[in-house]
Amino acid sequence: MGASLKRDQFEPAYLRLHRSGELARRVKEALEALADCTLCPRDCHVDRLADRFAVCKTGRYAVVGSHFPHFGEEDCLRGWNGSGTIFFSWCNLRCVFCQNYDISWEGAGRGARPEELAAMMLRLQAQGCHNINFVTPEHVVPQILEALPLAIEAGLRLPLVYNTSAYDSLHSLELLDGVVDIYMPDFKFWDAEMARHYSKAPNYPEAARRAIKTMHRQVGDLVMDENGLALRGLLLRHLVMPGGIAGTREIMDWVARELGPDTYVNVMAQYYPAGKVSNREYVVINRGIAGDELRDALRAARAAGLRRLDTRQAARVV
Ligand code: SF4
Repeated sequence: MGASLKRDQFEPAYLRLHRSGELARRVKEALEALADCTLCPRDCHVDRLADRFAVCKTGRYAVVGSHFPHFGEEDCLRGWNGSGTIFFSWCNLRCVFCQNYDISWEGAGRGARPEELAAMMLRLQAQGCHNINFVTPEHVVPQILEALPLAIEAGLRLPLVYNTSAYDSLHSLELLDGVVDIYMPDFKFWDAEMARHYSKAPNYPEAARRAIKTMHRQVGDLVMDENGLALRGLLLRHLVMPGGIAGTREIMDWVARELGPDTYVNVMAQYYPAGKVSNREYVVINRGIAGDELRDALRAARAAGLRRLDTRQAARVV
């Protein structure tokens, strides 16, 4: 099993950066980068400071779809009071099967200035959440960084979870080094053609492999406290897709080989047809996961040598 750390010995990574002044420097660098945006692997080169936008449809300020204590996350994140989720609107991927289509494709939500983002974090902390969980954050790294010092000054002390598709640039991850406690990338596709067809991002697999290795180098394997709550490290997700289009076996082999057998992995089975998927378009994925597809996925993970599989899914394997 993985290492553990007593909660009272844990300090979120960002506090040290804040004390040293490095966090303020990162905020400045991140905001300047918005002027010619290459903050994700799309490399759009638009001036978001002037409120122009491209693929992610987000200009100067983040848009937030919702924020709430989330009880659907992994046990080590939701605990008993929930994971303090802040769900960003729009997205830099274009997954045709998106299960949050109204938020990620249609931008449901409202603009949030840094003070409002900071207030959301503090509200979630006051509600007893165990962490702050930034969902779909790839295109708003500068905006998150900008809000963070305000939240810290007002007493934020929770670990930060970066809940990402892994379509992140190395520059963004450099900006987040020592800020994020828990990286939670969802490794979606192994094959470039599948990533092009289903997410309009043929460079996704290559970008995700590079990003996930960088995340792991920064935070290491997942470490829990005495109550089984995640404090720091990498929690890798993988959504099993119908018809094997995600490349589960290749992904599990890569994770075991490149990150090691103690990588915490959640093999997820909750895919259902949504977004643009129908009986006319993207027909191959117009169904849920069959029982043997989940079993095969979990077997592939075990055969690769991975020994820290999220127990809720792993218990279902026969
Ligand atoms: S963050 Fe948005 S504007 Fe910037 S490169 Fe990515 S998709 Fe393009």
